[in-house]
Amino acid sequence: MRKLETKTIVVASHNAGKIAEIADLIGPFGFSAKSAAELRFAEPDETGTTFEENATIKALASAKASGLPSLSDDSGIVIDALGGAPGVYTANWAEREDGSRDFAMAMEKVEKALADKGATEPSQRTARFVSVLCLAWPDGHTELFRGEVEGIVAWPPRGNKGFGYDPIFQPEGYDVTFGEMSAEEKHGWKPGDPQALSHRARAFKIFVETCLET
Ligand code: IMP
Repeated sequence: MRKLETKTIVVASHNAGKIAEIADLIGPFGFSAKSAAELRFAEPDETGTTFEENATIKALASAKASGLPSLSDDSGIVIDALGGAPGVYTANWAEREDGSRDFAMAMEKVEKALADKGATEPSQRTARFVSVLCLAWPDGHTELFRGEVEGIVAWPPRGNKGFGYDPIFQPEGYDVTFGEMSAEEKHGWKPGDPQALSHRARAFKIFVETCLET
């Protein structure tokens, strides 16, 4: 496992919601971080079929373009009744023909797919959010960190905090969706806490333990 020796990194993302969450999570560690979006790097094609492959593609593209260690996130919602869909294609389900993204439409699509399967009871609507973070160095070395959080798909959507599919994801043990939680509640973690809540914060905690702590 390689340690991260520099305090300047690039957040290899063009997704404003993810960039904000990663900025929150790395804030306490004193990093100076710019995003691939701010640096106007081209978005690489996500041609992988796993979260790990796509996270690696994004982190390596940014590390090569910037000459700096780069931290990417590939994530999605995996719904049991849909055979794991949308999974790595979670962002694609929100894509409109003109290339823009519409998450209200994507959430409707999920609900329609679940209704078609007759999945109306909470026990038939189990799902997990997955986040794989990849830290890549300009020499091509990579480290991967995976976080998951179990929950159910709620309907109708609730809450306008967070981003993406947050309004329809209710984590196990909670009666609110991610869309109804503040960022702090959704991460459920700050340095030193024994556990985290969100998939991204869980993956980030492993990144901290692996690459930052001595
Ligand atoms: P990608 O990793 O860029 O391929 O896209 C991940 C997709 O999953 C995006 O469409 C996000 O909206 C969705 N997603 C990932 N993490 C979260 C989250 O924490 N909340 C809501 N949606 C998420």
